[in-house]
Amino acid sequence: MRFSIVTLGCKVNAYESQYYARSLKEKGWIEDDENFDVVIVNTCAVTNTAAAKSRQMLHKAKKKNPDAYSVLIGCYAQVASEEEKEKIGANLLIGTRDKNKIADLIVTNVNEKHSIEKIKNVNEIFAFESMPIEQFESKHRAFLKVQDGCNQFCSYCIIPYARGRERSLPLEEVISIAQNLEKKGHLEIVLTGIHTGRYHYDGKDLTDLLSALLENTNEQITYRISSIEMNEVNNQFIALMKNEPRILHHLHIPIQSASDATLKRMNRPYTVQEFKDRIDYLRKEIPDISISTDVIAGFKQESDEEFEETFNNLKEIGFSFMHVFPYSIRKGTAAEKMPGTVHGTIAKERVERLLTLSKSLRRQDMSRFDHGDVLIEKEVDGQWYGYTNQYHPIVIESNQPLSGRMHIQFEKIENDHYFGKVIKGEEALCD
Ligand code: SF4
Repeated sequence: MRFSIVTLGCKVNAYESQYYARSLKEKGWIEDDENFDVVIVNTCAVTNTAAAKSRQMLHKAKKKNPDAYSVLIGCYAQVASEEEKEKIGANLLIGTRDKNKIADLIVTNVNEKHSIEKIKNVNEIFAFESMPIEQFESKHRAFLKVQDGCNQFCSYCIIPYARGRERSLPLEEVISIAQNLEKKGHLEIVLTGIHTGRYHYDGKDLTDLLSALLENTNEQITYRISSIEMNEVNNQFIALMKNEPRILHHLHIPIQSASDATLKRMNRPYTVQEFKDRIDYLRKEIPDISISTDVIAGFKQESDEEFEETFNNLKEIGFSFMHVFPYSIRKGTAAEKMPGTVHGTIAKERVERLLTLSKSLRRQDMSRFDHGDVLIEKEVDGQWYGYTNQYHPIVIESNQPLSGRMHIQFEKIENDHYFGKVIKGEEALCD
């Protein structure tokens, strides 16, 4: 049998899709995006656009191959209304639970003509569903999902309704997966989750997990955290990061707004001053760290004054780049019922201004460095692409094939990329 997977959304979804592909391949199935018997759409619900795209992708696949068995899985499948589910007409719907049984569920049901729904109440999901992956298609960087779910209930966010409560992968299992990734030649492991900083298993937190990983994998393996909330960047975590060159000096810390009034309506658990103080301490301890963030523009009741305050504070904090999203009303969240929707044109203008700011802040952050270690991942038309430790993208021109971790001289910055040349190879890691 042949299958195709379409993935929307975050890094956790990307990880889960790799697991789905692997489970089907273990049953002897072949991945084929042109001629497939089964199509799986791994959905996202974080914005209305993501939800609409999830539906469109399934329709597109069914148009391409009307006889294919269709599977809708993940966040949007979990929160879609009965009416939406009926309209979509997928053969198999899997929500947040039983994702790690996907291959068996497909094999059992693939000849059924009627639609089957495997969606459970997220409040009844307590166990972390293990999805071990031994090898990623990308040569050197691997992802490892260590946590799922969220208890924070930010007022705009659908994720706690789609993914359920916090749960974590047992520490021993994380280590065993990391050791397998190491054996397959991966050099960098990105720890991912929905609320990764809330990793908690048997009294061990994220800092304990990182310490255990460093101890149990070889010196060549470096670690990144995909995203962490400000309150979880505690002193122990910072101390470990400072003393361990194998934890790369980039953190993505979502701020969402930099106005106290907006943050309060968003139910974010910090003030702008608290955020700034944490960042100041982090930078004092680790001067070469780069910090990126997420921002929502045009949240309910965001006045011009609040937006200006956000803009100026973001500029002052000086993030290395910002992912900017226009606010999107999500059904069932606390913010859905709040009055004061910001007009779409105004939200769009704010997004544009923030994106322009992000570009100039990125350049400012990139200008701090003129050389550094880079993990080179792929080649396109004689140019090699990778990311620096601070997670800035780089293009390297070379007549020789390049691969792995190399020390690079940054020669210029153009279109948010460094352009550079190799100084030396692998041994540069612990300079
Ligand atoms: S921390 Fe807030 S934004 Fe992040 S997943 Fe949880 S509720 Fe959503």
